[in-house]
Amino acid sequence: LNRRLAGMGTTIFAEMSALATATGSINLGQGFPDTDGPQEVREAAVRALREGRGNQYPPGPGVPELREAIAEHQQRFHGLTYDPDTEVLVTAGATEAIAAALLALLEPGDEVIAFEPFYDSYAACIAMAGAVRVPLTLRQPAFRPDLDELRSLITPRTRLLLINTPHNPTGTVLTPEELAAIAELAVEHDLLVITDEVYEHLVFDGAHHPLAALPGMRERTVAISSAGKTFSFTGWKVGWVTGAPELVAAVRTAKQYLTYVSAGPFQYAVAEALRLPDAYYAEFRAELHRKRDLLAAGLTEAGFRVFEPQGTYFITTDITPLGEKDGIEFCRALPARCGVVAIPNAVFYDRTEIGLAQVRFAFCKRESVLREAVERLHRL
Ligand code: PMP
Ligand code: GLN
Repeated sequence: LNRRLAGMGTTIFAEMSALATATGSINLGQGFPDTDGPQEVREAAVRALREGRGNQYPPGPGVPELREAIAEHQQRFHGLTYDPDTEVLVTAGATEAIAAALLALLEPGDEVIAFEPFYDSYAACIAMAGAVRVPLTLRQPAFRPDLDELRSLITPRTRLLLINTPHNPTGTVLTPEELAAIAELAVEHDLLVITDEVYEHLVFDGAHHPLAALPGMRERTVAISSAGKTFSFTGWKVGWVTGAPELVAAVRTAKQYLTYVSAGPFQYAVAEALRLPDAYYAEFRAELHRKRDLLAAGLTEAGFRVFEPQGTYFITTDITPLGEKDGIEFCRALPARCGVVAIPNAVFYDRTEIGLAQVRFAFCKRESVLREAVERLHRL
C-alpha cells in the first residue's frame, strides 16, 4: 500500500458488517435498508434485463433515458435546469462520483476543506488525488459549521469545498443562511464546490436546499446524488453528477478510466424510479421520520445522549452517560455484550479524540428490528 493510503486498510463499514454477520447481531452500523425499494422499480430492472437493454456497455455518460430523468428530477425538486447531454453524468454510485470529481478537479498539494466528521471515502479520495484535507469540525451538540472558522481555514492553496448536506454521520442539514454564507466565500475566493446530496430526500426538520441554486454557484458546483438512498437500492450502485458542462466533462474524463460505465439495466430502472409520483417521496420520508423518532426515543431511554438528526438515516449519540469513553472499543464489544452493531464516529475524524465518545446508529431498518435493538441496548 502506498503512503497516500497508509492507515486506510479496511473500511469501518466492511469491518462492522462482517462482525454483525459473524455474531448474528442486529446491524445498525452500515447504512443500508433492510427492506428493498419499490416492486415496480425492481420489475423495471428485470424488464430491462429480459429485453436486452443495458446488458452490453451503456454509453459512457449514462443511458439517455436516465440522464433525462435526472435532469427532470433536478427541475422538479430543485428548480434547476440541466442539459442531459452536457450537464449530467451517471456514475457507479455516489462513491465513484466523489472519487472522479476529486481526481479530476484537484492538483497535488491543493487544499480541500470538508466537514469533520468526514464520510470515509472523502479522506481516501483526497489522499489519492495527492491533495490535503483541511477539516472544518462540526462540534456537538449542534454540529453546525462555524462560518468564521471556515473563512479562517481558506488559504491561497484552497481549491475546493467538499460539502455534505444532509450530513453523514451527524444528520445536520444546512440552513439557507449557512448555504448563502458558504456560497459567498466560494465566490469571493473563486473556489470549486462539490456537494454530496445523497440524502436530499431524507430531511425531517427543515428542508434540503441545493447549493447550486445560489448566485454564482451553478458554474462552480458539482452536485452528487444516488439512487441507493432515495430508492433503497444501495446494491445497484447508480449515482450521478450534475453541474456546468466544463465541470461535468472533467469528472467524466476521470470516470472513464475508473469504471468506464456500470450497471446498464439498473440505469433504465432508476430512470423509472426518479419519475415516481410525489407520494412515493413523501411516504418514504414519513416512514423514516417515524423510525428516527422511534430509535431516538429508544436510545435516550437506554441511557445514550442522542443528538437528533435533521436528516439522513443516522443518529449520532454520545456514550459518556453510560460510563463509556471510547466509541471504538464500545462498538467492537457491543455485539458480544448485547447483539447490536453500531459505528464509532471516531473513524470519521482526523483528530480521533474529538469524536471518541460518539457512536452512530442507522435507523433505515424495520420497526420491529429497531424495537428489538433498543430492547437489547437497554440491557447494557
Ligand atoms: N456519500 C455519503 C454521504 C454517503 O453516506 C454514502 C453512503 N451511501 C455515499 C456517498 C455513497 O453512496 P453510493 O452508495 O451511491 O456510492
Ligand atoms: N454510506 C453508508 C454509511 O455511511 C455505507 C456505505 C459503504 O459501506 N461504503 O453507512
